[in-house]
Amino acid sequence: MSYDRFFDDALAQLREERRYRVFADLERIAGRFPRAIWHSGTGPRDVVIWCSNDYLGMGQHPKVIGALVETATRIGAGAGGTRNIAGTNHPLVQLEQELADLHRKEAALLFTSGYVSNQAGISTLAKLIPNCLILSDALNHNSMIEGVRQSGCDKVVFRHNDAAHLEELLRAADPARPKLIAFESLYSMDGDVAPLARFCDLAEKYGAMTYLDEVHAVGMYGPRGGGIAERDGVMHRIDLIEGTLAKAFGCLGGYITGKANVIDAIRSYAPGFIFTTALPPPLCAAATAAIRHLKASSWERERHQERSARVKAVLTAAGLPVMANDTHIVPVFVGDPERCKRACDMLLEEHGIYIQPINYPTVAKGTERLRITPSPYHDDALIDALAEAMVDVWERLGLPLKAKSLAAE
Ligand SMILES: *Cc1c(COP(=O)(O)O)cnc(C)c1O
Repeated sequence: MSYDRFFDDALAQLREERRYRVFADLERIAGRFPRAIWHSGTGPRDVVIWCSNDYLGMGQHPKVIGALVETATRIGAGAGGTRNIAGTNHPLVQLEQELADLHRKEAALLFTSGYVSNQAGISTLAKLIPNCLILSDALNHNSMIEGVRQSGCDKVVFRHNDAAHLEELLRAADPARPKLIAFESLYSMDGDVAPLARFCDLAEKYGAMTYLDEVHAVGMYGPRGGGIAERDGVMHRIDLIEGTLAKAFGCLGGYITGKANVIDAIRSYAPGFIFTTALPPPLCAAATAAIRHLKASSWERERHQERSARVKAVLTAAGLPVMANDTHIVPVFVGDPERCKRACDMLLEEHGIYIQPINYPTVAKGTERLRITPSPYHDDALIDALAEAMVDVWERLGLPLKAKSLAAE
């Protein structure tokens, strides 16, 4: 029996479909974000990162690094065990308090990652509700889909961000049946936003619980960085809010927040929480520093939005097909996996610009794109260089450019 063949065939199939992924070997330079060193085949080269989900550059913030180092020196590196065995360290308790306060909820529970928080959170929550019907947005993240699947509950999918369709499904369901509506606030591939207030209206009208993934919004929206729900004034109407410490907060870890008894029940029943080692104390302290900083400082949020708007304007003026939205995400349409990958290779190798291609299955086939994430630290010169490089690549790959608008002259 040749086992190698199974794996070689699986890889060959991905290559055939142009979906085989290659990761660039990068080394970010703290204090010089978004600059990094790329360990290319021919040696180290300076590059500019244009696709990081460390949206606000908090991963290199002096307060965050300071908290990490100070706590590691004082407490040590790892947590020493699962929380049931040996691992509830004080910095973790403080972080959960900070998160509960961020979302103005009674309690918070930390997980190893945002992925695990969705998977364990949704599956455990829904399992604890007898005969629960889950209503799930069609474009929910894989971690939510896995949580729904693992719950074993009946599921119906509503059209993406479509409140009318959600209401149709709610109306069709048995009024006596418990229901859970699961959705995201900001969808990170198109940068579009859910009608949260409408969803809350429906949840209240039909007696459903709500579960909201704010992963791409925490730290970046709302006066204290509480997310889109905070910005829209509906945070108190959402039952469970899930978020990550790995994107705008620049660290690692995921969490859910909600009423104390719900969080306590998930803490007590979720295998994905119980049987894995707690987050390292230094990382908890670093995340707490990032959250505290962004609760008080709006500079990063405002500059982030301003930079994103500028990137959209400059790329659009240069004729590039920016996909419109009202958020910080800048998707640029390619519509072909091969040229999407080629464009990224050319940007990196010839222009020192690092952007990962976004291909199927992350987005639907035929909607392949470059997904650009400006940060507060991408200055005008970097933006102009990006536009110039992309136009060069677009022309050489024969990708369509719109006629340059007058604004570009
Ligand atoms: C990235 C992401 C997650 C997972 O968060 P991690 O902390 O990276 O594991 C969950 N939901 C959405 C929508 C995401 O984009």
